[in-house]
Amino acid sequence: MNVSAQRGLLRRDKVFGFLTPAVGQQLDTTHSTLLYMENVSVSFDGFKAIDNLNFYVDKGELRCLIGANGAGKTTMMDIITGKTKPDTGSVIFGKNVDLLDLNEAEIAIAGIGRKFQKPTVFENLTVFANLELAMADFKSVWWTLHSKLNSAQVDQIEHIASTIGLLDMLNKQAGYLSHGQKQWLEIGMLLMQRPLLLLIDEPVAGMTHQEMEKTGELLQSLSGDHTIVVVEHDMEFVRSIAARVTVLNQGTVLAEGSMADIQNNDDVRRVYLGE
Ligand code: ATP
Repeated sequence: MNVSAQRGLLRRDKVFGFLTPAVGQQLDTTHSTLLYMENVSVSFDGFKAIDNLNFYVDKGELRCLIGANGAGKTTMMDIITGKTKPDTGSVIFGKNVDLLDLNEAEIAIAGIGRKFQKPTVFENLTVFANLELAMADFKSVWWTLHSKLNSAQVDQIEHIASTIGLLDMLNKQAGYLSHGQKQWLEIGMLLMQRPLLLLIDEPVAGMTHQEMEKTGELLQSLSGDHTIVVVEHDMEFVRSIAARVTVLNQGTVLAEGSMADIQNNDDVRRVYLGE
């Protein structure tokens, strides 16, 4: 019997046999852990980028993932989103979805959204149109551009624009937004897909102090309803959002806890400060 069957996990044909826009909403998340990564390893040409990693994220949590360059943060995100398949281990979403059995598109549909460091909004389109295009269903771009939105859809766009602080800018072309506003718009575009888990890579890189503060407030306000994992190098920002922190080192978890716990952790001090 394979691991999925032993654990009573849903196989991909069970998860996607009924492909609907709201597959993610049908996920069983009745218990508190939303993402499990257990004994996960992956090697590239003999080099272990992820080494027997165990990582758990609770539903509604805001988690920061930190670690030096090459610690394995991007590879870990690639594994969660299906871009890279590990050599060993299991990656479970909710109580019952085996992510290793799904491809990247299916993982996105299951409710995992990823935002890369560089904002990738459609610069020639308005904020409204960017949010509209990101709406959670399986319409084609052509259909979206040629059909009329119903009032619930307009409400959803306005609600998200308000959440990301861009309600007054709905008719502005995205190319004219500041760097910080583009980052918030892209977070809004992710939210349009109603993800259960958001993976956000270095959201505050290149932001002004004020934009950084607003981003912290935004992520804190989204947690609870959403589960968020933020990869971030800016320690001041990590401290300011007071999230639980996981320190990755050589592809495995070195320490986990509050920022204060991390700063006082002997292993962290040894690795980072050479103490
Ligand atoms: P950074 O903060 O610089 O983005 P990171 O913590 O995200 O670093 P990864 O990009 O996950 O680290 O890389 C972990 C290690 O795996 C690095 O040594 C990297 O060179 C190696 N690596 C990652 N992807 C590949 C690949 N496709 N082929 C070979 N080596 C890889």
